[in-house]
Amino acid sequence: MEHKRILLGSTLKELQDFCAESGFRKFTAKQICEWLYQKNARGFGQMTNLSLKDRATLQEKAQTGIHEPLQVQQSADGTKKYLFASPNPDNETPQDRFIESVLIPDNERATLCVSSQSGCRMNCAFCATGSQGFNHHLPVSQILNQIQAIPESDRLTNLVFMGMGEPFDNLDNVLKALEVLTAPWGRAWSPTRITVSTVGITPQLPRFMEACRCHLAISLHNPFASERAELMPVEKTYPVRELVEMLKTYDWYGQRRVSFEYILMDGFNDTPRHALSTAKLLQGLPCRVNLINYHEVPGKPYRKSSPQKTESFQKILQEKGIICTLRKSRGEDIMAACGLLAKTKGAE
Ligand code: SF4
Repeated sequence: MEHKRILLGSTLKELQDFCAESGFRKFTAKQICEWLYQKNARGFGQMTNLSLKDRATLQEKAQTGIHEPLQVQQSADGTKKYLFASPNPDNETPQDRFIESVLIPDNERATLCVSSQSGCRMNCAFCATGSQGFNHHLPVSQILNQIQAIPESDRLTNLVFMGMGEPFDNLDNVLKALEVLTAPWGRAWSPTRITVSTVGITPQLPRFMEACRCHLAISLHNPFASERAELMPVEKTYPVRELVEMLKTYDWYGQRRVSFEYILMDGFNDTPRHALSTAKLLQGLPCRVNLINYHEVPGKPYRKSSPQKTESFQKILQEKGIICTLRKSRGEDIMAACGLLAKTKGAE
């Protein structure tokens, strides 16, 4: 069977080349971009300002790449978790692989937490996704489909790349998705509405900083190298201390922000010693720290910190002049909270 080209995720230039090859008029590429990225068309039949002949050619040679979610679960707090099929683009015999995205409505805001890989190879000890191993990098179309295919697509105000996977481990596709999201011919979002989170694959930082203006979040979780290495094996190859030193060489006084995510785990990383060392590590870097309650994962030894320890951790950082907030837990009842995404089986 001939493989139909997926248009979702194509840049304007790529669509112009495709349209030229297909014998379409020059401006057709721009029209397709508008339908795909701004009018959220599900199929070529909806692209009514294209000629019937062009639509028939598109139908024959291409597919939009939009796939509806297989399942949605809604939490008591309004958070929604979407499940999508995620076929491996490099595998001729598709296996049942799935990814999840989480919609977090909060008054006027609607933040979508998207996945960048199916599974993850970073193997963070506290994370449900890490425990399931790595399946594949998401192609650009599957990253964007999470945003385009949900009913709330037009209402989204913010995006965070904090779902399944490590975005810097799939940086080519993540950067291309960011280009589509922020380009005038794409979704034309301000990059300041988007945050990309990484465990800190330091060699990729210059490329990310150069290629986009989106916010950056670093998963810190422990300021001590040996303890962090136990939680996050990436520390052994790319120590966070070196990453922080590199971050200090960039300008963070404009619109772009860097933040540090810190999941508090009782007895592991929530003592005053950890808070003081975190403050010392970040000294001289204009940044904020987001504290996150640990969400217990069956089979893992970690437990949530008490409200008292959480408060005292926050206070120490604030006294050291660091902006430090406690992120509200959302969607825990549907396993949609931070670190809990790990779908391996489809919807029944
Ligand atoms: S915390 Fe993030 S980087 Fe670490 S294993 Fe989980 S998904 Fe991967």
